[in-house]
Amino acid sequence: MAYRKYRTVKNTGIESARLDCLLLLEHALGASREWLLANNEAAITKQNLEQLSEFVAQREKRIPLSYIIGSKEFYGRRFLVNKDVLIPRPESEVIIEMVLDAAKNNDINTVIDVGTGSGCLAITLKKELPNVHVTGIDISSSALKVARKNARSHNTQVQWREMDITKNDIPNMPSTRPYVVTANLPYVPDGMITSEEITKEPELALFSGNDGLNHYRALWGAIDITPHKPTLIITESLLEQHESLQKMATESGYQLTTTNTLVQAFSPKLKK
Ligand code: GLN
Repeated sequence: MAYRKYRTVKNTGIESARLDCLLLLEHALGASREWLLANNEAAITKQNLEQLSEFVAQREKRIPLSYIIGSKEFYGRRFLVNKDVLIPRPESEVIIEMVLDAAKNNDINTVIDVGTGSGCLAITLKKELPNVHVTGIDISSSALKVARKNARSHNTQVQWREMDITKNDIPNMPSTRPYVVTANLPYVPDGMITSEEITKEPELALFSGNDGLNHYRALWGAIDITPHKPTLIITESLLEQHESLQKMATESGYQLTTTNTLVQAFSPKLKK
């Protein structure tokens, strides 16, 4: 039965059809992978089958798997997601690693996560560095609702601020202590549709003008008018945008310190 469902999903051209169906089956049955593999001949109730069919129908319409099951794993923790937030991507875990690396040798008082969405970066950083103050900022109140739920389910204290970074400075920065800004802002150039699935994610979280850099221009503009500058700014963007971002950083008095896949870290230029 599940095999037949897998074939229908496969026919829609979804590469991960087999794994997706297995995950949907786990979700429909509320069963673990181990149980399913050990009991692959077990009968399935009519109710569970209807549930599975409903999930498969959604997946055939290219609704991302994480929206159907309602969560996605990020840095070893599970985060609730819905259509109001971008689904956390594994490549963004590099941002966490860079902050943790920086925290090994530097005192970090505060992290401000701009464009926090589901809150996965802000909450992960609070879990990994419990003594650091963390603020998550987003323009979308419905995204912040999801972030708040995630903070509760992970038992963390993060401050949330609804704010448009394109019109403001960076709020909540400590006036004397070192702080870090993390930013996985929308960076997809308008009209660049890389998969059917991303058309189901919030446009607000993905697209940023012709070159995809409107939000980052605004971020560096906000840094310029912020009196106490962050000691580290970590951004994620497309590889082909890295040079432009580096230029923006230089104009704001920052230099590239580390880069890894899509992620770049900038720190203030040393005065000669
Ligand atoms: N990496 C995401 C994608 O390609 C985009 C994330 C973003 O704009 N911040 O779908």
